[in-house]
Amino acid sequence: MQPDARKKFRMALLSWYESNKRQMPWRETNDPYQIWVSEVMLQQTQVATVIDYFNRFISRFPDIKSLADAALQDVLKLWEGLGYYSRARNLHKAVNQLVAENRFNVPDTPEEFLKLSGVGPYTCAAVQSIAFNEPLAVVDGNVKRVLARLYKINTPVNDSCIHKNFETRAQALLEKQAPSSFNQAMMELGALVCKPSSPDCGSCPVAVFCKAFLDESVSDYPKRKKQKPVPTRKRVAVLIRKENSFLIVRRKQKGFLGGMWELPGGPLKKNANPEKSLMNEIKKSTGLNIDATEKLGDINHVYSHFKLELALYACRTSGEDIDLNGPAEFHWITPDETDRFPFHKAMHKCFPFIRNTFNDIN
Ligand code: SF4
Repeated sequence: MQPDARKKFRMALLSWYESNKRQMPWRETNDPYQIWVSEVMLQQTQVATVIDYFNRFISRFPDIKSLADAALQDVLKLWEGLGYYSRARNLHKAVNQLVAENRFNVPDTPEEFLKLSGVGPYTCAAVQSIAFNEPLAVVDGNVKRVLARLYKINTPVNDSCIHKNFETRAQALLEKQAPSSFNQAMMELGALVCKPSSPDCGSCPVAVFCKAFLDESVSDYPKRKKQKPVPTRKRVAVLIRKENSFLIVRRKQKGFLGGMWELPGGPLKKNANPEKSLMNEIKKSTGLNIDATEKLGDINHVYSHFKLELALYACRTSGEDIDLNGPAEFHWITPDETDRFPFHKAMHKCFPFIRNTFNDIN
């Protein structure tokens, strides 16, 4: 696009944005902390899902200090169900980095902001441009799709190796006098008009600049690299009952679902006997000897990078000592106490089985 066309493109986009932008709680504030929280929550997550989480989070942790003072478990509890829990752990770690240096505001330079835990180029560009008008282009999935169609980019949008290609285009288009509005306008255009399927080109404010629209090849863009099929992982878990309570364990802080609580269990190897595997896993991870006789059900859950098939069992224990090897912590809780702990989504699917089991007993 020639400089003159870029100028007209920016004017058309910004004027459309001013009249069409959706109301979102983080658009009604200039508070960089709130903008930071919203950008972290919005990664990999739909706006509609984020709104309630954001409101609850900000009312509980209204500033950097209150978030840093909170126990990680309370932060994860408020994040429960949003997924990608490393985002919450990193955010908590980042505000603690700031408070440890007696800083209670979001750093207002990209260099300082990038030093914080969990802040990579995307979060940095989004927060610094929206909160501080730093002239950095934001390139998320929506923006990539718009760019791919505008310029007929033949490199796949889902190939992380060539992300730079899109960044360079976005940076050249950016309205440097109004990066906050421009970045949000590009993302909003992708979300509302230039949608993945059936883009609404008839009402697109920048259609006259769009190469794919002008030569009727919109349906050919964006290009995508074929993804490998998502693998299936099998696991076993067990409801270990002792009187009116059952055992839960907390995953170690680092790694997938780090810090979240669950029933004890472990992976199930191909062709392995589930009951035997479960007994071995429980002995190894908790030191308990169990007799997994009762099958409660099968639970399926889809994560972004694998499908989980979880076989759920129940057993009793007379209350031997627990010797953890793997999990970070354990608790015996009643079914009424699950609200006190952050559980990942697959565990929430186990709760009806747990309640049924206790109801049958009482
Ligand atoms: Fe997207 Fe169509 Fe607008 Fe091009 S004209 S940017 S394909 S909505």
